[in-house]
Amino acid sequence: MINPTRVFIDKDLDLTPEIEYLISKVKPIPETVADSKPVYDLINQADDPVGFAKKVLYITSNKGALIRQCPGTSYYTCCDYTILHCGTYCTMDCAYCILQAYFHPPVLQYFAGFDQYAAALEPIFHGDTVFRIGTGEYTDSLIWEPVSLMPRFLVEKFAAQDRAVLELKTKTVNIDALLNLEHNRKTILSWSVNTPEVIASQERGTASLVARLKAAAKAVSKGFRVTFHFDPIFLYPGCENAYEKVVQAIFNHVSPKDVVWISIGTFRFMPHLKAIIEARFPDSTIPYGEFITGIDNKMRYFKPLRIAIYQRLAAVFRQLAPDVAVYFCMEDEEVWMKTFGFFPGKPKALAHMLDRAAADRCGLDASLI
Ligand code: SF4
Repeated sequence: MINPTRVFIDKDLDLTPEIEYLISKVKPIPETVADSKPVYDLINQADDPVGFAKKVLYITSNKGALIRQCPGTSYYTCCDYTILHCGTYCTMDCAYCILQAYFHPPVLQYFAGFDQYAAALEPIFHGDTVFRIGTGEYTDSLIWEPVSLMPRFLVEKFAAQDRAVLELKTKTVNIDALLNLEHNRKTILSWSVNTPEVIASQERGTASLVARLKAAAKAVSKGFRVTFHFDPIFLYPGCENAYEKVVQAIFNHVSPKDVVWISIGTFRFMPHLKAIIEARFPDSTIPYGEFITGIDNKMRYFKPLRIAIYQRLAAVFRQLAPDVAVYFCMEDEEVWMKTFGFFPGKPKALAHMLDRAAADRCGLDASLI
């Protein structure tokens, strides 16, 4: 929930209906600032800037690129995802969250400006290729739903074209304002999932697994397509059975035909995240597994251990949902081959696979793939 103790707003922002709505939904009354400096200074002075920043909302506009390519690495197979950059940071608090170490300082920013978004999306909606676009890379897509018209605006924008799908990725159940919108299957509601043990111990303030899956079922009942992300998967005693049960629980709630794709990936982290986890989550044991440094400089579990859990999950997916596109975010050829028996190694091959899934399930224009 967005429940700030301080709210700041850029002095240059016009009081549009979008801003008026947001201001009517959050307390306290916004303090006007000329630029981001007072907000950054306030956060930097806190004992725990990472935690404190979750309570400081900064309403501003995006001064950089609204549309960006996902920062995948060239070392691992990448899915060519596109990011719509409409906000930063998060009010929930996961021990493993990369955003704790990504921003300096982290700031809960809302980037206003429907006109700006419409203009940035225009070439995509009339282009000669298809796009998979998400807002959940630098923030949780749906923490904003209770206070902002942005998710509604985007759902309706995407509904009017057939070149792009919008994936709204979340660990909340904030979908009520979207359910009765005309979405034309171009918005995919998406949940990151984990085992109940991991959710309870590492994901403060997030919805339970059951609540997420019930929300997914509700979304499907309104014609939405859904996706799931098993990321990060943690290795701990009994994890194989626990993750298998999560897969089973998903398909007890939704039919495979309504699932566009599922990604899987084990825990990986930049080395400097370890000190942040130790300081902010002293009971968490997640940084103490046996890790190696990958070629992208991130710490990862040993490859045979990753492959073992992936193979267990792949077997359940084959059994319960053989037609759903399951893919890795950031794994190499050996892992793909030993898990799925194929490797989308050619340029754009993985993107192609996911575009086809979106065409099939969401009605994207297949002639452009
Ligand atoms: S829900 Fe996502 S963005 Fe929010 S704290 Fe957890 S990992 Fe970070």
